[in-house]
Amino acid sequence: MKITDLSHPIHEGMTTFPVSWHPMVEITQMGRHGVEARETRKVLLGTHTGTHLDAPSHFIEGGSTIDQIPLDLLVGEALLIDLSYAKPNQEIQVAELEKLIGAERPKRLVLRFDWSDHWGKTDFYSGQPFLSEACGPWLVNLGIKLLGLDTPQADSPFHGRGCDKDSPLHKIFLSQGIIQLEYLTNLKKISSRKFELVALPLNILQGDGSPCRCIAIER
Ligand SMILES: [Zn+2]
Repeated sequence: MKITDLSHPIHEGMTTFPVSWHPMVEITQMGRHGVEARETRKVLLGTHTGTHLDAPSHFIEGGSTIDQIPLDLLVGEALLIDLSYAKPNQEIQVAELEKLIGAERPKRLVLRFDWSDHWGKTDFYSGQPFLSEACGPWLVNLGIKLLGLDTPQADSPFHGRGCDKDSPLHKIFLSQGIIQLEYLTNLKKISSRKFELVALPLNILQGDGSPCRCIAIER
Protein backbone atom coordinates (compact mmCIF):
# COMPACT_ATOMS: atom_id res chain seq x y z
CA MET A 1 0.00 0.00 0.00
CA LYS A 2 1.37 3.43 -0.96
CA ILE A 3 0.10 6.57 0.77
CA THR A 4 0.73 10.03 -0.72
CA ASP A 5 0.07 13.20 1.22
CA LEU A 6 -1.90 15.59 -1.01
CA SER A 7 -1.95 18.49 1.48
CA HIS A 8 0.29 21.52 1.72
CA PRO A 9 1.79 22.09 5.20
CA ILE A 10 0.20 24.88 7.25
CA HIS A 11 2.52 27.58 8.57
CA GLU A 12 2.82 31.32 9.07
CA GLY A 13 3.70 33.13 5.85
CA MET A 14 2.08 30.45 3.68
CA THR A 15 0.24 31.44 0.54
CA THR A 16 -3.33 32.62 1.10
CA PHE A 17 -5.76 34.18 -1.36
CA PRO A 18 -4.82 37.89 -1.33
CA VAL A 19 -8.20 39.44 -0.45
CA SER A 20 -9.57 40.79 2.82
CA TRP A 21 -12.02 37.91 3.33
CA HIS A 22 -9.27 35.27 3.43
CA PRO A 23 -7.01 35.80 6.48
CA MET A 24 -3.28 35.15 6.69
CA VAL A 25 -2.26 32.28 8.95
CA GLU A 26 -1.14 33.24 12.47
CA ILE A 27 0.33 30.70 14.85
CA THR A 28 1.13 31.81 18.39
CA GLN A 29 2.78 29.67 21.01
CA MET A 30 0.86 29.68 24.31
CA GLY A 31 2.11 26.93 26.61
CA ARG A 32 5.92 26.65 26.86
CA HIS A 33 8.13 23.87 28.16
CA GLY A 34 10.03 25.22 31.17
CA VAL A 35 7.23 27.66 32.04
CA GLU A 36 3.82 25.99 31.75
CA ALA A 37 5.50 22.57 31.38
CA ARG A 38 3.58 21.85 28.18
CA GLU A 39 3.54 23.22 24.65
CA THR A 40 0.33 24.55 23.10
CA ARG A 41 -0.47 26.97 20.28
CA LYS A 42 -3.20 29.24 19.05
CA VAL A 43 -3.75 28.77 15.31
CA LEU A 44 -5.66 31.31 13.23
CA LEU A 45 -6.81 29.86 9.91
CA GLY A 46 -9.31 30.79 7.25
CA THR A 47 -11.87 28.24 6.11
CA HIS A 48 -10.09 28.27 2.70
CA THR A 49 -6.51 28.08 3.97
CA GLY A 50 -4.18 25.69 2.19
CA THR A 51 -5.52 22.43 0.82
CA HIS A 52 -9.23 22.73 1.54
CA LEU A 53 -12.80 21.85 0.65
CA ASP A 54 -15.47 24.31 -0.49
CA ALA A 55 -18.95 23.54 0.83
CA PRO A 56 -21.98 24.65 -1.24
CA SER A 57 -22.69 27.51 1.22
CA HIS A 58 -19.39 29.14 0.14
CA PHE A 59 -21.19 30.59 -2.91
CA ILE A 60 -24.79 29.47 -2.51
CA GLU A 61 -26.89 31.20 0.13
CA GLY A 62 -28.60 28.52 2.19
CA GLY A 63 -26.43 25.80 0.61
CA SER A 64 -25.23 22.86 2.66
CA THR A 65 -22.30 23.38 4.97
CA ILE A 66 -19.05 21.51 5.57
CA ASP A 67 -20.44 19.55 8.55
CA GLN A 68 -23.27 18.29 6.32
CA ILE A 69 -21.11 16.81 3.55
CA PRO A 70 -21.61 13.02 3.60
CA LEU A 71 -18.41 11.29 4.68
CA ASP A 72 -18.84 8.59 2.04
CA LEU A 73 -18.27 11.29 -0.58
CA LEU A 74 -14.97 12.21 1.03
CA VAL A 75 -13.54 8.70 1.04
CA GLY A 76 -13.47 6.49 -2.05
CA GLU A 77 -12.22 5.91 -5.56
CA ALA A 78 -11.13 8.92 -7.59
CA LEU A 79 -10.18 9.23 -11.24
CA LEU A 80 -6.96 11.16 -11.87
CA ILE A 81 -6.68 13.06 -15.15
CA ASP A 82 -3.29 14.33 -16.28
CA LEU A 83 -3.43 17.89 -17.63
CA SER A 84 0.11 18.73 -16.57
CA TYR A 85 0.94 19.66 -20.16
CA ALA A 86 -1.38 22.69 -19.94
CA LYS A 87 0.30 26.07 -20.34
CA PRO A 88 -0.11 28.92 -17.84
CA ASN A 89 -3.54 30.55 -18.24
CA GLN A 90 -4.59 27.88 -20.75
CA GLU A 91 -8.35 27.43 -20.91
CA ILE A 92 -9.19 23.72 -20.91
CA GLN A 93 -12.09 22.91 -23.22
CA VAL A 94 -14.79 20.24 -22.93
CA ALA A 95 -13.26 18.25 -25.82
CA GLU A 96 -10.04 17.91 -23.84
CA LEU A 97 -11.83 16.51 -20.78
CA GLU A 98 -13.94 14.28 -22.99
CA LYS A 99 -10.81 12.78 -24.56
CA LEU A 100 -9.07 12.20 -21.23
CA ILE A 101 -12.06 10.88 -19.26
CA GLY A 102 -13.30 8.62 -22.05
CA ALA A 103 -16.02 6.21 -20.96
CA GLU A 104 -15.36 6.68 -17.24
CA ARG A 105 -18.16 8.08 -15.07
CA PRO A 106 -16.27 9.07 -11.92
CA LYS A 107 -17.96 10.25 -8.75
CA ARG A 108 -14.69 11.89 -7.73
CA LEU A 109 -12.58 13.56 -10.41
CA VAL A 110 -9.11 14.93 -9.72
CA LEU A 111 -7.33 17.14 -12.24
CA ARG A 112 -3.56 17.21 -12.20
CA PHE A 113 -1.88 20.33 -13.60
CA ASP A 114 1.26 20.19 -11.40
CA TRP A 115 0.36 23.80 -10.62
CA SER A 116 1.36 22.99 -7.02
CA ASP A 117 4.93 23.59 -8.32
CA HIS A 118 3.91 27.28 -8.34
CA TRP A 119 2.78 27.23 -4.68
CA GLY A 120 4.31 30.27 -2.95
CA LYS A 121 5.22 31.94 -6.26
CA THR A 122 3.71 35.22 -7.38
CA ASP A 123 1.81 33.66 -10.29
CA PHE A 124 0.04 31.00 -8.18
CA TYR A 125 -3.27 32.90 -8.25
CA SER A 126 -2.88 34.61 -11.62
CA GLY A 127 -1.22 32.18 -14.02
CA GLN A 128 -3.01 28.90 -13.45
CA PRO A 129 -4.66 26.93 -16.24
CA PHE A 130 -8.43 26.73 -15.78
CA LEU A 131 -11.61 25.19 -17.17
CA SER A 132 -13.85 26.86 -19.72
CA GLU A 133 -17.30 27.79 -18.45
CA ALA A 134 -18.84 25.08 -20.69
CA CYS A 135 -16.93 22.45 -18.70
CA GLY A 136 -19.26 23.25 -15.77
CA PRO A 137 -22.56 21.85 -17.14
CA TRP A 138 -20.64 19.10 -18.94
CA LEU A 139 -19.10 17.82 -15.66
CA VAL A 140 -22.47 18.17 -13.90
CA ASN A 141 -23.98 15.95 -16.60
CA LEU A 142 -21.14 13.49 -16.31
CA GLY A 143 -22.31 12.97 -12.73
CA ILE A 144 -19.27 13.98 -10.69
CA LYS A 145 -19.88 14.82 -7.01
CA LEU A 146 -16.40 15.99 -6.09
CA LEU A 147 -13.86 17.92 -8.16
CA GLY A 148 -10.28 18.08 -6.94
CA LEU A 149 -7.45 20.10 -8.45
CA ASP A 150 -3.94 21.32 -7.65
CA THR A 151 -4.72 24.89 -8.73
CA PRO A 152 -6.49 27.56 -6.63
CA GLN A 153 -9.76 26.90 -8.44
CA ALA A 154 -11.39 25.58 -11.60
CA ASP A 155 -12.46 29.13 -12.48
CA SER A 156 -10.38 31.45 -14.59
CA PRO A 157 -8.23 33.91 -12.62
CA PHE A 158 -9.93 36.57 -14.77
CA HIS A 159 -13.33 35.58 -13.34
CA GLY A 160 -13.18 36.71 -9.74
CA ARG A 161 -14.92 39.30 -7.63
CA GLY A 162 -14.53 42.65 -9.37
CA CYS A 163 -13.96 41.01 -12.79
CA ASP A 164 -16.48 40.76 -15.61
CA LYS A 165 -17.82 37.53 -14.07
CA ASP A 166 -17.57 36.27 -10.52
CA SER A 167 -16.60 32.60 -10.23
CA PRO A 168 -19.14 31.04 -12.64
CA LEU A 169 -17.82 27.48 -12.24
CA HIS A 170 -17.87 27.68 -8.44
CA LYS A 171 -21.54 28.64 -8.71
CA ILE A 172 -22.41 25.91 -11.22
CA PHE A 173 -20.73 23.17 -9.16
CA LEU A 174 -21.74 24.30 -5.69
CA SER A 175 -25.37 24.91 -6.72
CA GLN A 176 -25.46 21.23 -7.77
CA GLY A 177 -23.91 20.12 -4.48
CA ILE A 178 -20.60 19.28 -6.20
CA ILE A 179 -17.88 20.03 -3.71
CA GLN A 180 -14.47 21.31 -4.68
CA LEU A 181 -11.15 20.24 -3.26
CA GLU A 182 -8.61 22.95 -4.01
CA TYR A 183 -4.84 23.47 -3.66
CA LEU A 184 -3.95 19.79 -3.76
CA THR A 185 -0.28 18.89 -4.07
CA ASN A 186 1.91 15.88 -4.95
CA LEU A 187 -0.50 14.59 -7.62
CA LYS A 188 2.53 13.70 -9.78
CA LYS A 189 3.48 11.09 -7.16
CA ILE A 190 0.32 9.08 -7.84
CA SER A 191 1.19 6.39 -10.35
CA SER A 192 -2.25 4.94 -11.13
CA ARG A 193 -5.19 6.46 -12.98
CA LYS A 194 -7.51 5.48 -10.12
CA PHE A 195 -6.70 5.77 -6.44
CA GLU A 196 -8.52 5.91 -3.14
CA LEU A 197 -8.99 9.50 -2.03
CA VAL A 198 -9.40 10.46 1.62
CA ALA A 199 -10.19 14.16 2.16
CA LEU A 200 -11.23 15.03 5.68
CA PRO A 201 -12.24 18.59 6.58
CA LEU A 202 -12.64 19.79 10.16
CA ASN A 203 -16.19 19.30 11.41
CA ILE A 204 -16.96 23.03 11.61
CA LEU A 205 -20.66 23.58 12.30
CA GLN A 206 -22.11 25.77 9.53
CA GLY A 207 -18.65 26.02 7.95
CA ASP A 208 -18.43 27.23 4.33
CA GLY A 209 -15.22 25.27 3.87
CA SER A 210 -12.34 23.84 5.83
CA PRO A 211 -8.67 23.00 5.52
CA CYS A 212 -8.33 19.28 4.81
CA ARG A 213 -5.78 16.58 5.27
CA CYS A 214 -5.99 14.71 1.98
CA ILE A 215 -4.25 11.50 1.12
CA ALA A 216 -4.14 9.16 -1.85
CA ILE A 217 -4.02 5.43 -1.20
CA GLU A 218 -2.80 3.07 -3.93
CA ARG A 219 -3.00 -0.66 -3.28
ZN1 LIG B 1 -12.14 27.53 -1.55
